Order: sequence, then C-alpha cells, then structure tokens
Amino acid sequence: MAEFDVDLFVIGGGSGGVRAARIAAGHGAKVMVAEEYRMGGTCVIRGCVPKKLFVIGSHVRHEIDDAAGFGWTIPPVSFDWPTLVANKDKEIARLEAAYTSNVEKSGARIVKTRAVFEGAHSLRLSTGESVSAKYVLIATGGAPNHGPMIPGIEHVISSNEAFHLAELPRRIVIQGGGYIALEFACIFAGFGSDVTVVYRGDNILRGFDDDVRAHVRAEMEMQGITILTGCTVDKIDKRAKEFTSHLSNGSSLASDKVMFAIGRHPNVGGLGLEKAGVAINPNNGGIAVDGWSRSSVPNIYAIGDVTHRHNLTPVAIREGHAFADTVFGKHPVQVDHSSIPTAVFSQPEIGTVGLTETEARAQFSHVDVYKTAFRPIKSTMSGRDTRILMKLVVDGTSDRVLGCHIVGDIAAEIVQAVAIAVKMKATKADFDATFALHPTAAEELVTMRTPTARYVREAAAE
Ligand SMILES: Cc1cc2nc3c(=O)[nH]c(=O)nc-3n(C[C@H](O)[C@H](O)[C@H](O)COP(=O)(O)OP(=O)(O)OC[C@H]3O[C@@H](n4cnc5c(N)ncnc54)[C@H](O)[C@@H]3O)c2cc1C
Repeated sequence: MAEFDVDLFVIGGGSGGVRAARIAAGHGAKVMVAEEYRMGGTCVIRGCVPKKLFVIGSHVRHEIDDAAGFGWTIPPVSFDWPTLVANKDKEIARLEAAYTSNVEKSGARIVKTRAVFEGAHSLRLSTGESVSAKYVLIATGGAPNHGPMIPGIEHVISSNEAFHLAELPRRIVIQGGGYIALEFACIFAGFGSDVTVVYRGDNILRGFDDDVRAHVRAEMEMQGITILTGCTVDKIDKRAKEFTSHLSNGSSLASDKVMFAIGRHPNVGGLGLEKAGVAINPNNGGIAVDGWSRSSVPNIYAIGDVTHRHNLTPVAIREGHAFADTVFGKHPVQVDHSSIPTAVFSQPEIGTVGLTETEARAQFSHVDVYKTAFRPIKSTMSGRDTRILMKLVVDGTSDRVLGCHIVGDIAAEIVQAVAIAVKMKATKADFDATFALHPTAAEELVTMRTPTARYVREAAAE
C-alpha cells in the first residue's frame, strides 16, 4: 500500500495551483486539487479577466466620443450595465469550465471543498475527509484588505463585489491609489459614473516611475475623475440609499457606492499552518519561502499571491510550473523574478518593465533618460486632449536599457514586446539600430536620439 493517498495535494485552484497540478500530473504524480470557491481563482473569476472585459466595455465610450472628428454621426447611445455583467458572467463560466476540464484531462483530481492542514502531511477537507500527501502546495492566493475598522466599514465594497453590482452607481468614491483602484475608477468613469478617488499618499501609483504617475493623474483628471490625495476616508454614514464618506481633511462626499482597493493580504488565515509548522514571512505576512518556493517545512511549498512576492498571474503560473518541474520533473528550476513587465489598465493604460528613473539613479552611477510626450495621431482629428508618454531609462556606462515606461493606448501590448529586449539586456544602441515602424506611436522608442536628462553620481571622496 502507498505511504500517502496522493503525491501532491494542491490547496487552491487558481492560476498557480492549476498550473502546478497539471504539470505535476504530467510528470506522473498522483495529484489532488482543493478549491473552495470556483476553479480559475482570482484572475479568472474576479481579477484580470473580468476586469479587462469591463475595461474594454468602458473604453467604447472613448471610441464613440472620438468618432465625430472622423465623420461619423453616432445616434444617441445608451449603455446597459446588467447586460455587461450578464455577458461577463457567461464568459467567466465558460473559462471556469475550461480550467476544470484541463485539470481533469491532466489526470489530477479536483475536490470542490476547503482544505486545511492537520499536520505536515495531512489535510482535512470540509467534507470531514482526511487526505495524506507526500508534498503539499499552498496556492491560496490573496484577498482584499479594507484596512482599519473605521465606522461604517460594513458599507464598503471591494473589487469582488464591484463585478456583481445590480446597477451602475451614478456616483462612486474609490479609496486607493494602486492599480485596482485606478482601473475601476476609469471603468466607472467610462460608463458615465461620477468618480472620486481618495488616496492617503501624495500621488497615486506608488512604486511606478514619477513621470508615469504625474502623467496618468493629469490624464484621468482631464477626463473628469476627481483625485484627492493626502487624505483618507475615516467614516461612512448611510442614509436611505446614499452614503456619505467623511474624509480626514474635514470634507465629505456623497455617493451611491463606496469602494476600497487599498491593498490585498495573503490568504493564510485559518489554514492550520501552525499544525504543519509552516512559518510566515514577518516582512510581508505571506508564507515564507526560499528560492525554490519551499516553506520552512521541507515537503510544503507555496507559490503565487500567498507568498506576497510579485502578485501577478504570470508570476504565480511560472512559480507553479517551476515547483512541479523541480519536485516531480527531475528538472530543478528557480524563478528569475527580475524584469517582470506589468500593466495598469487605466485609461490611458500604463505598460512598464524594468527600473524606474529613481531606482536606476539609486543603483547606477550614470543614468541617461530619454523621454517624450506627444499627441497621438488619432487625437489630431478626434480633438481629444491627450498625450502619450514614452520613457527609456538607460545605464549611461554600459548603454543597457534598464527600464521602459509607456502611458497611452495599447501601452501594455507594446511593453510586452519591449520586455523581451530588456530581459535580453538590449542596449540603447540596439534600440537605435532597429528600424522604425511607421506610422506608429511605438516608433518613438527607436527614434529618441538625445537624452532629455543625464545624471552622473560623483564617487564619494576618500
Ligand atoms: C481586481 C484584480 C485585478 C487583477 N488584474 C491583474 C492583471 O491585470 N494582471 C495580472 O497579472 N494580475 C492581476 N491580478 C492579480 C492576479 O489575479 C493574481 O496575482 C493571481 O490570481 C494569483 O494567483 P494565485 O494562484 O496565487 O491565487 P488565486 O488566483 O487567488 O487562487 C487562489 C485560490 O485558492 C482558493 N482557496 C483559498 N483558500 C483555500 C482553501 N483553504 N481550500 C481550498 N481553496 C482555497 C481560492 O478560492 C482561490 O480560488 C488582479 C487581481 C485582482 C483582485
């Protein structure tokens, strides 16, 4: 009789868990995956995918507004939020079924239940059943974090609920300055809601390049989104269907919905980690792992958002794949977390890879910056007041391109391709040697000849 019921027990059927289960099963392992909610996890069910569908839907408003300059007469338009939500739900159900069937086809078994540790090799399902496993992979993801328990916090929705609102809010207050807050701000504004963003820091998008932050803020404000920085929502009152958000600066805002997107915490609560001896990383609250995604317990690994390293779907997928190859495929791989491209699907969107100017100047003695902001060809006829921002950050000593930051339509699509060059350590000379593709916005990336700024850090005196 086998020593364990399964070779691998995966807790969580999201991006990372599903990839790990499929690859491990492909390597011949007997795999069980527990999912307490819906297969596909955050990305598919209430993250990247439904968000992008909403972004695409709301961006239609911009296309309609821009059409007149090109000779179109558009009859009065109307928008039906319930149709959008219903069609999105249909697509998400299709994807969930595809995820389920792909896992099953790989030979792994799905159990639709919560699973928690009883010991390092033992899991208890909510059905009461116990399963023993040689290896366990924790891939439980993360969840919205509403911050301090301010009065009226029970009225606040997160991105989870925003995907299922019965009606489009006429006015919405969104607290948060990160990518989820801004994406929803632009989604709601595109559909016609009156949007106010409240953020405690001095500018939105902490961690992004400062030029990007300033540019996106200005573009969003130009579209009529109000952005209040340096303050927080301290209390929320509800009267009939109206909410009043009281801000730390003494003002108040009336709205039909209040949404918080101020961060996410790793899903470690109630997992029985103490029974298995799994340690938490004191710096970020996620599961502590080494470069192999191995926890403090040798047979237990953790990947994706629950480790709170880089909370992005492709990262969770790659970590899951590397884990399965390492443990079951006789092919040890560590994930290289450098130069991860990332996007913010605000409108206009952001695509970015590599170092910001501030990071580069802290790490390199010579830094050249190439920057341009220009009117896209489309706006010359649509009349829209918008600018595209493109910025390259270059190591002035080796000429290597350290970072690329773009704000504008399809910035994310452009940066996905540029990320290959950055990962390959391309130099500015390589960019310059590349032919422009004309007429495009992206051609600016290979035609910026002269640095807009050049920084030299003097060596410290002996
Ligand atoms: C609104 C939003 C937009 C996003 N947009 C993007 C984007 O554009 N691009 C991008 O790259 N990333 C985006 N992300 C982040 C992305 O969704 C996550 O990084 C990714 O889903 C992480 O995958 P994961 O496998 O670690 O966890 P998840 O996908 O969260 O999966 C974890 C699964 O575990 C299940 N689970 C938890 N505990 C248990 C238990 N005890 N037993 C059984 N099951 C359990 C959960 O139900 C869940 O299904 C977005 C996230 C949000 C919230």
